[in-house]
Amino acid sequence: MADHKIHAEIVTPYEVFFDDMVDMVIVSSKEGEIGIQPGYTPMMAALTPGEIRLKTGDKVMVASGTNGYAEVGRDMVIVVVNAAEWAEEIDLPRAEKALARADKRFHDPETDPQERNHARHGIERAKARIKIAKKYQDKSYSGSSF
Ligand code: ATP
Repeated sequence: MADHKIHAEIVTPYEVFFDDMVDMVIVSSKEGEIGIQPGYTPMMAALTPGEIRLKTGDKVMVASGTNGYAEVGRDMVIVVVNAAEWAEEIDLPRAEKALARADKRFHDPETDPQERNHARHGIERAKARIKIAKKYQDKSYSGSSF
């Protein structure tokens, strides 16, 4: 607790997306946003597609995360998600196409229930990426900091 920071790791099946000390991690859970700071009560939270924000001083890094979970310890948080992208790396046209594709599949009467469920998750991922891209990509920023 010497410097009042928390060790934050964001991992996907493909990479360690982020691994550093920060002041605060904000994740999107099914119950809303959770802000995790040093000393937070250990817990597990199910995550929904949405913002992951990493705050250090007056610097905030914003990423988009998919479904997953966060494991919180006293001075650490591990976020495990299927995919993560920094806000400025989101390809907005790609997300818009993914949304249209998933929406079409979701509403197609020929789509079976399992496939409809996949389509629903695809809609949620694409909507989160679109929202984050629109919210942050038109702001002036340097690298992944806002
Ligand atoms: P798509 O059909 O466009 O691939 P998806 O929701 O099926 O969308 P995911 O399975 O969540 O995509 O992600 C696959 C990989 O592509 C991950 O590495 C993810 O970070 C990346 N990715 C997906 N969509 C985008 C996007 N719009 N911009 C940047 N990277 C993306």
